Amino acid sequence: MSQTTIQAVRGMNDILPDEAERWEALEDLLRSWLQSYGYRNIRTPILEQTGLFRRAIGEATDIVEKEMYSFIDELNGESLTLRPEATASTVRAAIQHNLVYGGPQRLYYLGPMYRHERPQKGRYRQFHQVGAEALGLPGPDIDAEMLLMCARLWGDLGIEGMRLELNSLGSAQERSVYRGALVDYLRLHASSLDEDSRRRLETNPLRVLDSKNPAMQEIITGSPRLLDYLGRESLAHFEGVQAIIADAGLPSRINARLVRGLDYYNFTVFEWVTDRLGAQGTVCAGGRYDGLFQQIGGKAVAACGWAIGIERLLGLMDGAPVAGSRPDAYLVNQGVEAERFAFRVAELLRDRGFSVLHHCGGGSFKSQMKRADASGAAVAVIVGDDEARAREASIKPLREAREQFRVNMDAIADAIAQLLYEDETE
Ligand code: ATP
Ligand code: MG
Repeated sequence: MSQTTIQAVRGMNDILPDEAERWEALEDLLRSWLQSYGYRNIRTPILEQTGLFRRAIGEATDIVEKEMYSFIDELNGESLTLRPEATASTVRAAIQHNLVYGGPQRLYYLGPMYRHERPQKGRYRQFHQVGAEALGLPGPDIDAEMLLMCARLWGDLGIEGMRLELNSLGSAQERSVYRGALVDYLRLHASSLDEDSRRRLETNPLRVLDSKNPAMQEIITGSPRLLDYLGRESLAHFEGVQAIIADAGLPSRINARLVRGLDYYNFTVFEWVTDRLGAQGTVCAGGRYDGLFQQIGGKAVAACGWAIGIERLLGLMDGAPVAGSRPDAYLVNQGVEAERFAFRVAELLRDRGFSVLHHCGGGSFKSQMKRADASGAAVAVIVGDDEARAREASIKPLREAREQFRVNMDAIADAIAQLLYEDETE
């Protein structure tokens, strides 16, 4: 009887070992980069109450309207959602645990997010973000630091051609005056609006500016500019950010139509974009969201953050060399006594900090040596019954033309250390 095979869910990818090695290397680098700016890890659940995202992200957004994986927990009737992003969860956790009580917090997260979108290159239904949130810091200094730290990351990763686009959304009050002007303008052009925009005109007119439809671009370009509606405080904040990044020599472009797809932003918003990823050109997006804490039931706390799409970041690093996980030693063993003794040798080497790939499953010396070679290990440590009885092992350097030699078990680790150390200084 044949059964159809079960495949992964559409838009959700397996990350196989060769690729996973690149992920791990990148994650290591991201962690030390974040730590070097004082960010500490926070890990929130992948499932949250649906109401959290509705309140935080906003009803009239792509995410809440059509991208959330929501379901009813049949055991208690609760509506739950797989997190589409992690800012809402981070703020929820900060409120729940009173994190900002002791002073500002710099937090980061790294993990999977879920959005029911049409899968294509650079756009998946399970994707990954690394993100940072600075909580309790109201000034333009932290906004600017976040931009400088991103610029440093592109440099560290050797990524060229990243452009920074900046805008300010001002305060809620300024935005509401602007919204009136924008709606008046869009109503004049109502007949040329696409269906999405006509709907947004009623629910969330600023989001019309976020339209990706090329046919809408002319209307968008002619629309009033939010920047022209900003008051003194908003402008001073925005100028503060620009002054710091200009001092650091970081180029940026003001994009007066940059509004971001989520409702919770105010003041600074930004995107890092590239031409190298086709339609999915935004690698990093973020901004300030001083209203979010109150929106989800906390006291007012100033906050600023960004998120980077890991798949898109890796897409820019194609071909970049990443240290693979080659074992130091491959342990060849054959014979009844040898198989038992091999475990002592393996653990002894691991005690000394070496990575050991222990050959399991038997087979001829010849086939084991082939595996040793294919593993990329620097040396093969060979144990036969002869060696086992003598409490010795043979060592065969695999990456250079050198004779095999035999040493006592107490000397194996030193012999390998010497070989590896010599390799490095050559
Ligand atoms: P887009 O306009 O491309 O849909 P967005 O505004 O919805 O992006 P954000 O919510 O700001 O994206 O997420 C921040 C970053 O996460 C994006 O810039 C992108 O790099 C990445 N990202 C967002 N959605 C996806 C996805 N479905 N697949 C892969 N990466 C994604
Ligand atoms: Mg989106």
